[in-house]
Parts: sequence; structure tokens; C-alpha cells
Amino acid sequence: MPHHGARNAVCVSTQAGCPMACAFCATGEMGLVRNLTAAEIVDQIRHWQRELASNGERVSHVVYMGMGEPFNNYDATLASVRSLIDPEEFGISPRRLTISTCGVVPGIDALGSEGLPINLAVSLHAPDDPTRARIMPINRKWGVEDVLAAAARYVKRTKRRVTFEYVLLAGVNDSVETARALAAAIVRHGPTKDAHVNLIPYNPGAGGFRRPSVERMEAFTKVLQEQGIAATLRISKGQDIAAGCGQLKVAEGKAATAV
Ligand code: SF4
Repeated sequence: MPHHGARNAVCVSTQAGCPMACAFCATGEMGLVRNLTAAEIVDQIRHWQRELASNGERVSHVVYMGMGEPFNNYDATLASVRSLIDPEEFGISPRRLTISTCGVVPGIDALGSEGLPINLAVSLHAPDDPTRARIMPINRKWGVEDVLAAAARYVKRTKRRVTFEYVLLAGVNDSVETARALAAAIVRHGPTKDAHVNLIPYNPGAGGFRRPSVERMEAFTKVLQEQGIAATLRISKGQDIAAGCGQLKVAEGKAATAV
């Protein structure tokens, strides 16, 4: 993910495949193949570090948003974090690392107690349990309120701002009423009121959903902003090569890690 300016963000995977079965996600359709080791996670960054070094640049940010649920492979994920922040290894500030979870509450709490100022991103995708459970099976274990409360605890402990990921699906979670409910739920949880909501237009593929119209997505964004929530409508990079969020899938069972 090269950006203009000094930012070179690398997106890493923590598992090959994923067992969480989110309805809109191509990786979820694969199921879990296996957990990656810490070395395999770190190798993904090392690869890009080498590529960038040829231009005199280096990896500046790492986002754990590729294949897999990082908190389902907690020890390897944390071991990779320790390598990345180690000044003798990569020397990347923990403030430049972001771990994204689909809402594994014990993992959020465990990360919050590590004493590391890592950014947390939580895939919310709906402000109410019936809608969220329809598109994210994990919601049957930890519902919207559990996830928001865990995010609030994380913010309180780490003083980091949390990001909520929200994929916009036409006719499912994209109405202005839903946007109002989302804003209210976030504000209700105190420390999360300064959260950033990252609105992601659905990339056609898994689940057979439809992307809402631009007008509808902009209306959704505007409602959040009017309620004082920092919200951005994200134009996915990598969409043209089917490697946007939730589009990573290994062709014909070949072993690969996605970056
Ligand atoms: S969205 Fe994330 S947690 Fe959900 S199935 Fe895809 S990779 Fe797994």
C-alpha cells in the first residue's frame, strides 16, 4: 500500500484462511487452513522491507488486516509485534501498528493489558445484533454491546483511538436510520465516542451482496459526521486485483500468505 509521502503501510495475514465465516468475506469462504507462525507473519514485512530498501524507503506502518483473525492466533501475532517494535529488528513504533479483529472480546482485553500503545480496529458492520449476527457469526458469541464495551475498555487503558470498520451492504446495513443507531451506540460507550468509523464500500464477490449507490453511502457518512463521529468513506486500494479487505483468497488451494 504505497502512499504519497512518507507512509508505506504493509497489510499482513495471521492465518491461512479464516474460520470466522463473515458473510461478505472471500477469505471466510475458505475456512481455516492453518495458523501462521510468528516467523511467517514477520516474513511478510521483511519481504516489503527489502523491496522498499531498493528505493531507499522502509516499512512505516503495519496493519494486521489480511487473512485471518489475529486474536485466534494470539501468541504468534504478539510475538510478531515484539519483533516489529524491537529496535534491534524492525524498530517500528507500536503507534504505527494496527491490529484488526472481528470482535474477539478476550483478545481485545488481552491486548489492552500488554501495555503497548497499538491501534485497534474492530469490524463492527452493524449496530444491532440481528443484522450483525446475519453477516458475522461471531456475533452469536459476543454481541454488539459486548464488543463496544471491550473497545471502550481498550481506549481507556491504552489511550489509543479505536477504529470501527464498517462494510456498506445495500439493503442490509446502509440506511440513514442504521447510521443514526450506529452513532448512538458508539456515543453511548463513552470512551469510544472519539472513534473513527471507516466506511468500506462492499467489493462484489463473497456473499452475493450489492454495493450501495454513492449517494446512499454519502448520506450514511453524513449522518455519522453530523452526530460528531469521525467517519470516512474509504476507496479500497487493490480492488482491481481482488485483494481489497475481505477479498483475499488463495487460488486453487495453493499455499500462500497474502500481503
Ligand atoms: S472479515 Fe476477517 S474475520 Fe471475517 S471471515 Fe474475513 S478474514 Fe475472517
